[in-house]
Amino acid sequence: MISVDEARNIILSHARVIGLEKIDLMSSLGRIAGEDVYASFDIPPWDNSAMDGYAVRFEDINDATPDNPVRLMVIQDLAAGYFAEKTVGSSQAIRIMTGAPIPNGADTVVMKEDTTSSTDTVTIAAAPAKGANIRRTGESVAKGSLVIRKNTLLRPPHIGMLASLGQNHVSVHQRPRVAVLSTGDEVIEIDSPRDPSKIINSNTYSISAQVLECGAVPVALGIARDDKQTLVEKLRMGLSADVIITTGGVSVGEYDYVKDALEAIGTDIKFWKVAMRPGKPVTFGVIAEKLVFGLPGNPVSCMVSFEQFVRPALLKKMGSPALFRPLLTVTIKEEIKTQKNLTYFLRVRVTCEGDRLYATTTGEQGSGILTSMVDANGLLIIPPEKNEVKAGEKMTVQILDRSFDQTVGE
Ligand code: AMP
Ligand code: MG
Repeated sequence: MISVDEARNIILSHARVIGLEKIDLMSSLGRIAGEDVYASFDIPPWDNSAMDGYAVRFEDINDATPDNPVRLMVIQDLAAGYFAEKTVGSSQAIRIMTGAPIPNGADTVVMKEDTTSSTDTVTIAAAPAKGANIRRTGESVAKGSLVIRKNTLLRPPHIGMLASLGQNHVSVHQRPRVAVLSTGDEVIEIDSPRDPSKIINSNTYSISAQVLECGAVPVALGIARDDKQTLVEKLRMGLSADVIITTGGVSVGEYDYVKDALEAIGTDIKFWKVAMRPGKPVTFGVIAEKLVFGLPGNPVSCMVSFEQFVRPALLKKMGSPALFRPLLTVTIKEEIKTQKNLTYFLRVRVTCEGDRLYATTTGEQGSGILTSMVDANGLLIIPPEKNEVKAGEKMTVQILDRSFDQTVGE
């Protein structure tokens, strides 16, 4: 049986970056930049005032002191949004507002708070440094500079940067379409009449939510009965997507036909078991450059194996430079026993106490117990060579989602 790392490497070696598309700026939040973006002009485009105050010639005010203040003629009021009509000459000043372009002749701005004034004059009792209170042309962005690197995740500052450069559209990586098929005779649709012998399909929903969370597009294929022919038909429908995910039907039970059906549609199966818990029966294959994942049916197993295998592959297809969840070293609060030769992913809640991070398991770790997944904000990784963790030991936790922001520091 292959290890989690070996499985991930095989998958990533088959994940190809898909194409680019141009989209509206406001639709690009959370998308990944498809190309480098260079500034076509300077920001700010001209020297401008960082303060409300007076634009002056430094040589006029250099000697100002409280005992010997300098008085200048105010020749114009200048608001932001306008160029000055006049040039600041000897013993003259222009009353200037924050953001207004520095008038010709002036080289320094004295802030309003350091002056006294009448309508036509201003008195300055102390000189700031030469060139003070001026924002220089291009100090935020220089014309021709690289402002957004290809493959950057676009967050609000990037959206603002693109807007400030007048870029209404942005080139981003396409979102892979991911077909999601649940399997099992016992599984019924969420809106079917209740049947005491059946369970409601939750996997399609949790997996589709995980697909959405990493920025791809889920396409629900419904539920296939445990019957090879039905599976083959449903899987064929999934071939229009970039990635296919099935849940259930991949273990060694009498009615586990997913691997057979995948082979029947021509999938080149790369592996069908990974030394991990939960999630051992994970099948991966490739058909016409499409990635096919046969995830286990248990609600936690499929989500955990999605995290380990599908998410990095989808992120790679979208051009993301970061493929993996953040890993943190935390102190484990309890003793944990595991079986050797398997990588364990235990549902834990990471909390911050003082300057240390701790993790506690969130309860029963059975692969069908979604409750402990709901309460978790991370997965504690216990490597295959270990079979015991002692209370107080430091271990690695994979941080799962943004609920971590809310729980740490509570
Ligand atoms: P399987 O891998 O097909 O043997 O399924 C393992 C367990 O997961 C069984 O108890 C199933 O009832 C459950 N299961 C399978 N598919 C789903 C699904 N779509 N939603 C919720 N539970 C499921
Ligand atoms: Mg089944």
